[in-house]
Amino acid sequence: MNTVDDFLLPWLRDAYAMEMQATELLERQAGRLTDYPELATKVRAHLEETKWQAQQLQSCLERLGSDPSMLKNAVGKLSANMSALGTMLSSDEVVKSSIASAMFERYEIANYRVLIAAAEFAGQPEIAQTCRSILAQEEAMAEWLDAHLPETTAKFLGLQDVELRKAV
Ligand code: MG
Ligand code: FE
Repeated sequence: MNTVDDFLLPWLRDAYAMEMQATELLERQAGRLTDYPELATKVRAHLEETKWQAQQLQSCLERLGSDPSMLKNAVGKLSANMSALGTMLSSDEVVKSSIASAMFERYEIANYRVLIAAAEFAGQPEIAQTCRSILAQEEAMAEWLDAHLPETTAKFLGLQDVELRKAV
């Protein structure tokens, strides 16, 4: 017979893989945002939060008695799906990656809402609480990214304009 932990455990593992992927994406972005200092600072801050989130998820998994070696499998699976997000090399990369990041944060938010409900259902209030703390960070980042999409776009277009005039 299944227990609720049979669902909570793989979902937490998926979330761990998601955060490892987020770490890769944010690291890649942070290095390429020299023209966008405010965005770069925010990305670096969220990178630190993301590393903390991965640690928290690992603790939740340990609490449920998960085998740590299972985590590597989970990470490999998701990497293939999401790698396209981080490998955009077009000239408008900052705009495209801002869209991708905003989308990724919404994806994380949906995952943590599910995890909170599942943890509560499974009688794991500590895990639910951990996921609520993470959710708050994802919501803050999602809101910040959404709010700054116009600014990032305008800054990008402004920089293009300068370069075009110089080239003529
Ligand atoms: Mg996250
Ligand atoms: Fe996030």
